[in-house]
Amino acid sequence: MLVVAAPAGDPRPRLLTSSQTFSHLHRLTIRPAAAGAAAANSPLPTFLRFNSGSSSSSSSSKECANCHTSQPLESLSCPSCSFLQPLPSDIDYYKAMDLDVSKVPKGGWEVDAKELKRVWRLRMAVTHPDRMVGRSDKEQQIGAQQSALINRAYETLLNPLLRAQYLLDRHHAAPVSETDSLEDPELLMEVMELREALEDAGSEEEANAVREENSQFLNSSIKALADAFSSNPPDLEKAKKATIELRYWTNIEKAAREWSPNDRIEIHH
Ligand SMILES: [Zn+2]
Repeated sequence: MLVVAAPAGDPRPRLLTSSQTFSHLHRLTIRPAAAGAAAANSPLPTFLRFNSGSSSSSSSSKECANCHTSQPLESLSCPSCSFLQPLPSDIDYYKAMDLDVSKVPKGGWEVDAKELKRVWRLRMAVTHPDRMVGRSDKEQQIGAQQSALINRAYETLLNPLLRAQYLLDRHHAAPVSETDSLEDPELLMEVMELREALEDAGSEEEANAVREENSQFLNSSIKALADAFSSNPPDLEKAKKATIELRYWTNIEKAAREWSPNDRIEIHH
């Protein structure tokens, strides 16, 4: 079991080669926080909001449009006729990745990255371009919608910052916004010092020193999140604070990863 860092590279190009699927992916990509904000006004309890279908809000199953076989909401293709099945746009990301959130350690926080990737591969194989040959336009469309949602669920659960925001949202906490800033003046000073050190870095060694120091802050925010979501009930105040901090470390990590001796670094917070 390991808690994962942000994905080092986008793994999609290896599996999704169809340009049509790609353009679809980009159009359909919605920030989970935005989707959560829209749902925040809903009076429904979390388990209904996240597990319900977009069209039939009280149902926990759906019916195949082709042969009318009833199947779970997260089903990708019909068990009877293998017709592709649309996923509810508000599908629970854990369910979409074949996980029972109540069985994921530390309140859903400690996802197993290897297992997540294994399920992602299986899911993406269903709508692999090779398997779409000969399918109807309708099914091609459903396939593109499926892969966009599965990709979003995968990235959200894999990436600690996105996962923290998603878990906060599941607990109805106010979303962390771009305007939320660090309250701790000492941490803010660390952020400023790390940014400056990266801007002034003239060698790979100096950039590495920034990466190493930053990863310690990043790991301590990740640990704080694990603790916050482990408590019963979860400590949402602590989780939100750690999420805001993690956003700073994640931004510095990205800039430090992209650092090269010839480019000037710009960090946006
Ligand atoms: Zn069917």
